[in-house]
Amino acid sequence: MIIVLKPNITKKEEAAVLKEIEKLGYKPHVMRGVERIVIGAIGDERTHRNLETLMTWPQVENVMPVQKRYKLVSREAHPPNTAINVRGNVIGGRKVQIMAGPCSVEGEKQLLKTAEAVAAAGATILRGGAFKPRTSPYEFQGLGEKGLKMLDKARRETGLAIITELLSEAHAELVAEYADILQIGTRNAQNFQLLITAARTGKPILLKRGLSMKIEEWLLAGEYVLSNDNCNLMFCERGIRTFERATRHTLDLNAVALVRERTHLPLIVDPSHAAGVRSLVLPLSLGSLAAGACGLIVEVHPDPAHAMSDGAQSLDFAMFEELARQVRGGVGAKA
Ligand code: PEP
Ligand code: MN
Repeated sequence: MIIVLKPNITKKEEAAVLKEIEKLGYKPHVMRGVERIVIGAIGDERTHRNLETLMTWPQVENVMPVQKRYKLVSREAHPPNTAINVRGNVIGGRKVQIMAGPCSVEGEKQLLKTAEAVAAAGATILRGGAFKPRTSPYEFQGLGEKGLKMLDKARRETGLAIITELLSEAHAELVAEYADILQIGTRNAQNFQLLITAARTGKPILLKRGLSMKIEEWLLAGEYVLSNDNCNLMFCERGIRTFERATRHTLDLNAVALVRERTHLPLIVDPSHAAGVRSLVLPLSLGSLAAGACGLIVEVHPDPAHAMSDGAQSLDFAMFEELARQVRGGVGAKA
């Protein structure tokens, strides 16, 4: 059930409602909007007493059931868009946020050069994997903590915020110490224990869509984050596995528009992994923004031909500058 409080209620009035929800046997989750506070009450409605009695409380505006399986991520629970502030960059606000950087952190020079180039072009968040989920165990697995330290140095030198992947529960504390946003990758999108551990770090989370994940499953995976007291979640569409082999994956623009409709949380698109080839990254970026994405995460490398992972889909600096220019200026705009 969703409980909407009246505007301008006091802390004391809010606390009284929370206490009553707990008394009725539910766990309250508070979402603070610009105008109103909305509380998601999670529990088995068949076995607990009826929350509708709260309708008689003077500080309560409305009590509504959420029919969908996902509750806290749903737009019913929280009609306005949620925005997430990461080191002063608002994700889910009016400005399109661009996250950019190499697939893998390969070394200090490679990372700093890329960080400087993407920052100069208009990116606000630096991406780079230190722990890499590779299909083959014989491929480059990432620099681990050394890579995290390089990301930290790049952040200090450029002011960019950092997003990096959390691969395993065992690394949660370490990665959360360095990252501004924890990326949960495609292969872990339904690793529920990892999602709970990531949520409990308190860091903002970017949840990629699994390779064969239905939209409802993806939103339910997000529900694991919000129901573990972390409202700073963004979804990331990165292409799904279909019959088509001409591209690495198939970017699901339906999902972009639908997730925007069904949830209040920011939606980011990763055109690099969807396409698998760099020439498609720009048009897919523009299409994604038109469909409702509020940000992009793009792979960029100083020398894509020699990248240790995902070189074919990585943009060089000139291509990234052009992408950032077109994103800033609107589709087709010239400088
Ligand atoms: C990545 O961002 O480099 C990555 C491995 O992404 P995904 O989980 O989408 O494959
Ligand atoms: Mn990659």
